[in-house]
Amino acid sequence: MIETNLKQIRVRIDAAASAAQRDPADVTLVAVAKTYGPDAVEAALAAGQRVFGENRVQEAQGKYPPFKARHPDLDLHLIGPLQTNKVKEAVALFDAIHTLDRPKLAAALANEIARTGKRPALFVQVNTGAEPQKAGIMPDSADAFIAACREVHGLTIAGLMCIPPVADPPAPHFAFLAEMAKRNGLAHLSMGMSGDYETAIALGATHIRVGSAIFGARG
Ligand SMILES: *Cc1c(COP(=O)(O)O)cnc(C)c1O
Repeated sequence: MIETNLKQIRVRIDAAASAAQRDPADVTLVAVAKTYGPDAVEAALAAGQRVFGENRVQEAQGKYPPFKARHPDLDLHLIGPLQTNKVKEAVALFDAIHTLDRPKLAAALANEIARTGKRPALFVQVNTGAEPQKAGIMPDSADAFIAACREVHGLTIAGLMCIPPVADPPAPHFAFLAEMAKRNGLAHLSMGMSGDYETAIALGATHIRVGSAIFGARG
């Protein structure tokens, strides 16, 4: 099942990239395995998948160390909110963090990166819908925040990430994020999930975060 799903998604990624005159190799499929057990990760690994996403530090800590030991090329991405008291664990475990969204977190990450020499790829999460309850830097503060990450905290920023409001068509949010990335000289865009990754690819996504289309509906 998981193997078939992955194959179908890869075909659709190739088609969406080609339609947008993009190289499919420039689109990384992040398999979001949150809430699924080690068996699901195992099946995806057997099907050749190497990039995984999790939204909780603790859940990832319990799941990935044996897989990472066996597959040194396993690439683990944190796509959920990060508390500053979990920064140490997150930098130790994750190869990429998609949810940098506030100065305090930027400072904590800069400290931990300097202390350990580990350098996870960092994405700034932008709250493109300006939703009060949602994580992410507000759109009108994002340019200044990106500049502060670079100039005040000395961080290398890989790109931007967004989760559009569920009720909105996603395309305008993806286009907005792409424009912001361009303006800030950022090459990577983490956008698109199971329901809209083809739209995201058309608008420049380099990292799509796909869970249920690979692993099935979450309980
Ligand atoms: C769960 C999650 C996804 C994957 O969602 P699906 O609809 O299952 O593909 C993507 N991004 C984030 C931030 C998530 O929390």
